[in-house]
Amino acid sequence: MYHGDDDHIAFLNRVYAITSQVNPLHADLWPSATKYEAEIVAMTAGMLGGDAAPTDEPTRQIIGSVTSGGTESILLAMRAYRDWARAARRITRPAVVAPTTAHVAFDKAAQYFRIKLVRVPVTADYRADVEAMRRAITRNTVALVGSAPTFPHGVIDPIEDLAAIARQRGIGMHTDACLGGFVLPWARRLGYDVPGFDFHVPGVTSMSADTHKFGYAAKGTSVVLYRGAHLRWFQYFTATDWPGGLYFSPTLAGSRPGALSAACWAAMVATGEDGYLEATRRILETGAAIRRGVQAIPHLRVLGDPLWVIAFASDTVDIYRVLEHMTRRGWSLNGLHRPAAVHLCVTLRHTQPGVAERFLGDLHASVEEVEAQPAGEEGLAPVYGLAATIPFRGMVRDLLKKYIDLLYRP
Ligand SMILES: *Cc1c(COP(=O)(O)O)cnc(C)c1O
Repeated sequence: MYHGDDDHIAFLNRVYAITSQVNPLHADLWPSATKYEAEIVAMTAGMLGGDAAPTDEPTRQIIGSVTSGGTESILLAMRAYRDWARAARRITRPAVVAPTTAHVAFDKAAQYFRIKLVRVPVTADYRADVEAMRRAITRNTVALVGSAPTFPHGVIDPIEDLAAIARQRGIGMHTDACLGGFVLPWARRLGYDVPGFDFHVPGVTSMSADTHKFGYAAKGTSVVLYRGAHLRWFQYFTATDWPGGLYFSPTLAGSRPGALSAACWAAMVATGEDGYLEATRRILETGAAIRRGVQAIPHLRVLGDPLWVIAFASDTVDIYRVLEHMTRRGWSLNGLHRPAAVHLCVTLRHTQPGVAERFLGDLHASVEEVEAQPAGEEGLAPVYGLAATIPFRGMVRDLLKKYIDLLYRP
């Protein structure tokens, strides 16, 4: 829940209700959907350094597409790099170099599109290891990946350094700003010291930014951006010989929910620059308070140098049992592994009066409970620990598939 305000939700629902039949696949029938999406892309590009790029030079302008979510934005960018490299470099065994912390959607892209994903361990501060990534580049490498910030630990990779390497090698550089795309530009305007991560950095050639996270749209939209219209061409699908007629679609889907694009456009325009600035101010202030508070709790330590996604671990108590005790108190935290940790992603929900204080109070109490009774075998805590360390990954994979099966049981 990134926004969660009743009035905002009711507003999005009203927009959805009057546009529920709109299908951007048929641009001729639904010209408004095309306009919503063009403006979503333009607004997002402008926010992420596109304003500083020339708008009339095809190879340098910042352009993109509306997609169904961060995963699709990443899939499309990876597919575009793969096919660009095949056409421009005759690379037939494409590889992408990414830190271990980059989102798992890059693994999904690698599996779907037969790309080799080279995962490089991060440094002690949980950020991408620039030198190790440089060493991992081969003649088959088509792109580097960095996150702003990373999903697990909320830290910003050294994008400027990675982009400089990518530029020197003439390969792509994707900044995954799914989580930070609608926060970091406003953080910078508020005076926070935000390192270069977007299209202001010359070597950054593509980005993903999720409107359905801190853009405060309904679930089901994201934006993928490219530097240069030629890259977006490698994302498009076209068919010229199908009996069903000439066919083209910019993204993975055929028919698409135009109502989600309408609601996304409405969310962006209604929130506006003032709204994003104010939301970001509240989130970063709450993030800082929670980070300080977690650091002050005995047995806990914060991982890395985060702004509003606060990951913490413990050397003395089982952090997964702390997570369980927090769940019992009504908190929904993410369990991380390698290393074992937990994170809270601060959203507008947590900026309401008293929430951060209640969170820290509950966290302190949970740690004390675990410390007082460390040997519990109840709940999911042992499963988390086991799942991270069991050497038979195939077994864990099967377990996950069986779990998904259960979800479909009527
Ligand atoms: C959420 C997220 C994604 C994936 O987005 P989905 O919308 O869940 O598909 C990718 N990268 C980062 C950093 C994210 O936070």
